[in-house]
Amino acid sequence: MTSGKPSLKLDKVERHYREGESRLTVLAGADVEIAPGEMVALVAPSGAGKSTLLHIAGLLDRPDAGEVYVNGEACGSLDDAGRTAMRRETIGFVYQFHHLLPEFSALENVMLPQMIRGLSQKVAAERARQLLDYMRIGPRAEHRPAELSGGEQQRVAIARAVANSPYVLLADEPTGNLDPETAHYVFDALTALVRQSGVAALIATHNHELAAKMDRAISLDHGRVVPLQFG
Ligand code: ADP
Ligand code: MG
Repeated sequence: MTSGKPSLKLDKVERHYREGESRLTVLAGADVEIAPGEMVALVAPSGAGKSTLLHIAGLLDRPDAGEVYVNGEACGSLDDAGRTAMRRETIGFVYQFHHLLPEFSALENVMLPQMIRGLSQKVAAERARQLLDYMRIGPRAEHRPAELSGGEQQRVAIARAVANSPYVLLADEPTGNLDPETAHYVFDALTALVRQSGVAALIATHNHELAAKMDRAISLDHGRVVPLQFG
């Protein structure tokens, strides 16, 4: 898995925000490469730019300079429709709060991105069931988000994020809202899914114990990506 093209590559990415007269530099030449099946922790203090980096990697925001490659394809020259299609087909996103649609069941929440992509209801339902079983929430598939625990909601959100078999899974503090035991359980399910699917995962977390279990960890230092060692 170390040869070949990375699933995700950020090349000298810059992002600056205008603050009145002055300019706030959040990313100042950030470089990241993540291979298929690799799980990378992003650990940095609040305000360091983790969410900014994830949004740019997820094509939800554009860099001011530099380039994002998904499975080798440069995304900078895509127009809005091209970026939306690229995001829908190649990237999955998990947030700290699940953002599931409250009026739909767990199963339907996992089906929807597949149906938006054009798959039939039947195919989408089969895949959704498989994923929910894999995340060990099959028996809860017909329940709405409000009827699920926090850990179950996050496992549904993870299943939804990988429903279209993305190359890249981006997660912004996905266990930040859970108690430690539930966080471990959700993290173990996430790990199994990454290993089984070969998706490349970049996971922002404040939890050093979980970060240490990933393949490697990176941090942000003055807008640049630096390796992080534990222990
Ligand atoms: P983290 O996720 O590591 O806490 P963020 O990426 O959310 O950090 O934010 C990094 C810095 O950029 C912070 O100082 C934040 O206030 C600033 N920032 C984030 N988004 C915007 C925005 N849309 N406009 C202006 N400043 C922003
Ligand atoms: Mg953040």
